[in-house]
Amino acid sequence: MTTTTDAPQAARPRGMTTCPECLGGARFANCGACGGSGNFSDELCARCGGAGQVELEGPCPACAGSGLVTTAYVRIADAAAYAAGEVVAERRHGDDAGEGEVWAQTHEGVTVYGLAAYGFLRERLRTQPRVLVEATQVPGHLGHPMPVTAVRVPGLSLLLSGVTWGYTGTGPNGLAAILHDLGAFEDHRQALGWVAARPQFSTWSLLVVRAGNSAGEAPPSSEASPPGGVRP
Ligand SMILES: [Zn+2]
Ligand SMILES: [Zn+2]
Repeated sequence: MTTTTDAPQAARPRGMTTCPECLGGARFANCGACGGSGNFSDELCARCGGAGQVELEGPCPACAGSGLVTTAYVRIADAAAYAAGEVVAERRHGDDAGEGEVWAQTHEGVTVYGLAAYGFLRERLRTQPRVLVEATQVPGHLGHPMPVTAVRVPGLSLLLSGVTWGYTGTGPNGLAAILHDLGAFEDHRQALGWVAARPQFSTWSLLVVRAGNSAGEAPPSSEASPPGGVRP
């Protein structure tokens, strides 16, 4: 649906776009009385005044009522729509992967499922003042350690299959979208540049401080060692 908006393009902060889930922060749904037709018993519907739609209470969860989302959100929402009806994240149990709730991406190695898994927990992760994103090693199939990207807040971890590159991870664009959406970078291009400089086979970490939209690199975890040698 094409709509006009009050927010002029020039006024948008860098890396942000109009929220596709609402109109200026307000969400609407079909009127329950007339089913969206605007008419009730051949008269104008009293509930919605003939508009057929009613405004929903509460701020839009995608943009927190601001009417603006990161451009990364569009990628994430597309991924979620693509994977709608599928299981994109599953609970992982065990003491190896972190405290509290630990979720892991299903369908390993597919960027779209990594983004959809992030989308599944997005609201909970984005409401935290500090988010730690790191490449870490957790035991995978047959108990062998494998590198994954972890997004962590107290009591909640999301493990995305693989790290930055190639067919085993979110892919650089997937990880860049997540970092941009978390507020670590102002736009996708800046995030992608940072991701491209990460080591492929050793651990790294990034502490995202959401207040003020700034990011700071956490001290690299000690004893970081490449898991499987160097590929050409
Ligand atoms: Zn109505
Ligand atoms: Zn919205």
